[in-house]
Amino acid sequence: PGHLYVVATPIGNLADITQRALSLLAKVDAIACEDTRTTGAMLTRLEIRRPLFAYHDHNEKRAATSIVERLQAGESIALVSDAGTPAISDPGFRAARECQRHNIPVVPVPGACAVTSLLSVSGLPTDAFFFAGFLAPKSAARRRFFEEYRDFKHTIALYESTHRIEKMTAELEDVLGPERVVCIGRELTKKFETIKTGTISQIREFMKSASKKGEFVVLIAPQGYEL
Ligand code: SAM
Repeated sequence: PGHLYVVATPIGNLADITQRALSLLAKVDAIACEDTRTTGAMLTRLEIRRPLFAYHDHNEKRAATSIVERLQAGESIALVSDAGTPAISDPGFRAARECQRHNIPVVPVPGACAVTSLLSVSGLPTDAFFFAGFLAPKSAARRRFFEEYRDFKHTIALYESTHRIEKMTAELEDVLGPERVVCIGRELTKKFETIKTGTISQIREFMKSASKKGEFVVLIAPQGYEL
């Protein structure tokens, strides 16, 4: 069979594409992507032209089966998501699992990832961390999560979108108290990149005057951690 290459793409800065990603994307038989328009636009800027097909949350199971069939027929396929590392809060794991089940090689082509990017500059403990991805959309469930992990010994990493970031940080302050240390990263690698570490109350104060537009990573330091 051919190989499935799971290829990371930039999270905002096109220059973060790796040399290896460039050469693989240019030579695979096809590229499975979340959104053919998003990936198509990126490939145009990179001057790469390969056939694209959709692989997203709504057809993941079916698409994973067809990826396996194509790989068994000898094709090589790259799997990408809209941004960053596939399968990290993005579709991808089912394709990898189907390939593993059929003894088809799955090859990682690492690169940008929002959570590791922020961890690397946060100044928070990074020897061990828990990546919780996106929290539940309902406030009560998020509060329960914060209560459950209040005494967790390692840094906790979350993804959050523009429209919930204020509500979520207010809940954080409510449940974990204003002195808990957090780090917030907005629009990482992009023009309006903002990275701020401080107590929740400092961060909330800072956010009052800062733009809340864009994509966020939130890191919560272990209880008792001081800057
Ligand atoms: N697979 C991606 C990765 O490797 O990081 C994550 C995809 S997930 C659908 C999108 C979320 O990741 C956003 O809502 C945000 O929380 C985070 N994210 C992605 N790009 C980001 C960026 N440039 N700055 C801050 N957060 C980002």
